[in-house]
Amino acid sequence: MGKRDYYQVLGVSRNASEDEVKKAYRQLALRHHPDRNPGEKEAEERFKEAAEAYEVLRDPQKRGIYDQFGHEGLQGSGFTGFGGFDDIFSAFGDLFEDFFGFGGRRTRGRDAARPGADLLYDMRLTFQEAIFGTEKTIEVPTSVACEACGGTGREAGTREEVCPTCQGRGQVVQSQGFFRISTTCPRCRGEGRIIKNPCQPCSGTGMNRVTRTVLVKVPAGVDTGTRLRIPNQGEIGYRGGPPGDLYVRMHVEAHEFFERDGDDLHCQIPVSMVQAALGDTIELQTLDGPRTVSIRPGTQSGQVARLRGEGVPHLKGFGRGDLLVELVVRIPENLTKRQQELLREFADIDKSKKPSQKMFKFWSRGDKAKHTEANQ
Ligand SMILES: [Zn+2]
Ligand SMILES: [Zn+2]
Repeated sequence: MGKRDYYQVLGVSRNASEDEVKKAYRQLALRHHPDRNPGEKEAEERFKEAAEAYEVLRDPQKRGIYDQFGHEGLQGSGFTGFGGFDDIFSAFGDLFEDFFGFGGRRTRGRDAARPGADLLYDMRLTFQEAIFGTEKTIEVPTSVACEACGGTGREAGTREEVCPTCQGRGQVVQSQGFFRISTTCPRCRGEGRIIKNPCQPCSGTGMNRVTRTVLVKVPAGVDTGTRLRIPNQGEIGYRGGPPGDLYVRMHVEAHEFFERDGDDLHCQIPVSMVQAALGDTIELQTLDGPRTVSIRPGTQSGQVARLRGEGVPHLKGFGRGDLLVELVVRIPENLTKRQQELLREFADIDKSKKPSQKMFKFWSRGDKAKHTEANQ
């Protein structure tokens, strides 16, 4: 496959300065970095292509050969480009640190300490537990430092030895023609040191799998999707790296009567036609216990009573949401003869028997359609 022109790859002119070349490469490397484009072949190719172009154009000697003889000239002198990401990261490791504020990837030379992974735990809560908070003990499978070797991975009393292949550098340099290409040391995988006598119980990993018991204090007011972060309770770090964090994700069960809307609670209470018409006091079970609610005479179905501060505690800050009680007026069914008589009597003396014109229009809107259909 034909290679693209290196100047074209970096998008610089043929007489671009060293600085311009570096700047152009930096931008391309940032855009196509594999950590930003995981699994994307196109980005991977661009990233490799840019690295190769930069490797040549940043070096006056190689650039000279390229300018004069092109790709073929470089091949004749032994330059073959990069095999993979690891080669690129070991060649430009320092540069990347400069670019991104972090190192290449994976192979960090002899200082191989890595932070532990974060863990995610899914926790089920009842409606009440979420609203009032709770404490729960959970069991999290995780890795901890091996007790036998204290996390070093070495058998007790033995020492780590400098890798004889790379003399502790973590990288080996191969000379090809007059180009030097450094790659990660295959023996120690870039760590610079090797373990001759690995610890038996942990097979040299320095870690053991255990089930860790963690007490989780769930604050009042959490909801489904709330994530609590418990610092340092994730996986232990590799070779003395800091531990990861534990995230606890909440799943809250639904309630029989109450529905949650943020920090407000909604519920419906049935009241009789007579209670709505004459007024009454009723007892309502709230989450805090029984409460007396008074119904005003002439209450309409669907009216909402707001009980301030009887909802869900605000997760951040003080105070609580409200409890909204919708009164649903039940129309009596299966009336006795006597009840029917009384209602008819009531209707005869009821001056508001016919709803106002405006009201009537509203009521009949839905029914009219049904009636005409039924009549046809
Ligand atoms: Zn061990
Ligand atoms: Zn080595």
